[in-house]
Amino acid sequence: MTVSTEGWENFKTNKWLFSTPSSSYADRPKSIVRRTSSEEAPKLNGVESPGSRANRPRTLSDRGNEILDKHEAMLDLYAWKWSELRENYNEKGIHNPSIYCYAISTVQLLSHIPAIVRLLQEHRCQDPICLACNWKRCFLQSSNSAGSINWFREAFKRDRKFNQGRQEDAHDALLSILGKLDKIAASIPRLKERKVADDLFGYSIRNEVICRNCKTKHVYYENNTVMTVRMIKKDPTGKSASIKDLMQNLFNNSTIYGYNCAKCKKKSDAPVKPTLLRAPQILLLHISRFSFDGFGQKISRPVKLNDSIDVSSMATGSTSTVYTLCGAIVHSGKSLDYGHYYCAARHRKRERQFVMLNDSSVSSNANVQDVQQSYIVLYRRAEHVELSSQTSMI
Ligand SMILES: [Zn+2]
Ligand SMILES: [Zn+2]
Repeated sequence: MTVSTEGWENFKTNKWLFSTPSSSYADRPKSIVRRTSSEEAPKLNGVESPGSRANRPRTLSDRGNEILDKHEAMLDLYAWKWSELRENYNEKGIHNPSIYCYAISTVQLLSHIPAIVRLLQEHRCQDPICLACNWKRCFLQSSNSAGSINWFREAFKRDRKFNQGRQEDAHDALLSILGKLDKIAASIPRLKERKVADDLFGYSIRNEVICRNCKTKHVYYENNTVMTVRMIKKDPTGKSASIKDLMQNLFNNSTIYGYNCAKCKKKSDAPVKPTLLRAPQILLLHISRFSFDGFGQKISRPVKLNDSIDVSSMATGSTSTVYTLCGAIVHSGKSLDYGHYYCAARHRKRERQFVMLNDSSVSSNANVQDVQQSYIVLYRRAEHVELSSQTSMI
């Protein structure tokens, strides 16, 4: 069997594979949506060719090594544990003047990632509407019992991201903030050449496609930061699916119908085997709760959040990486356009505990398993979460 990547131009036009749900923003980063038989069936209402992916190097070994090597070198550049920060912050809420819960919950979740908090601490600039400066001043370092959020929309005013007067989406807010990380890091000399969001959250999937006709193996890669997973079909016994089930489903073998083989120039239904080539340092999962039944309704079924996830069953070469659950943004309500977002996160100073952060209110000792309608879920690598020093106390 030979390895070839020459079919990329044909592959990217395989409409069965590259389909995305409709998006609120034209410039929103797209992710490839693969559908397996157990997922909620999408209606193919949007077809995408990810042109940026077409320029990738053409051979497996070069690209694979580049992806992995580049990330070995960056581990010392960021803070992965709270103990690596010069200052940590008490838990506090954020006042919601009207419809800002999407922004508040997103800012709260990201404020529970040591690398992000350290970036904010080190950042300096003169821009009065800067996202990072205001995040620090009006929330993290504010001496009030609850911070403010008025600065959030201001920070995106120039790129017209968020409109006043309507409920926005926490996933859009998350992607927009990740899109600003390089600019935030630009004032920090050691991070000047880095792609910060990719360093912190980037992952790579290796897709192996075999032409049924000539048996040639084609390999394609996809890189992204927030991993979108889909709801899986309802279990007849009523058992809730776990977030690991949803993630595993993304890595199940599937089929590309009508795959154009560049080698033999024939079409066939080709099996595709995806594996996780590069596990992220910090795993951000987005649960697509959008139903493609034609009405665009929300699927509000609960998803069980695993305390820890080992990705070895999904990884290329079965490499083990273990993640610990660190937080979630929850969307309550029956429709995606209305409802309320709030956040549950591991306490910054006592990592064995979770806090519930709902606008200005903070409840400690929260049970994260009570969180039913999770929408964005945060996992950090198990070795970075400091649980052991308190273990002896139970
Ligand atoms: Zn600034
Ligand atoms: Zn072929």
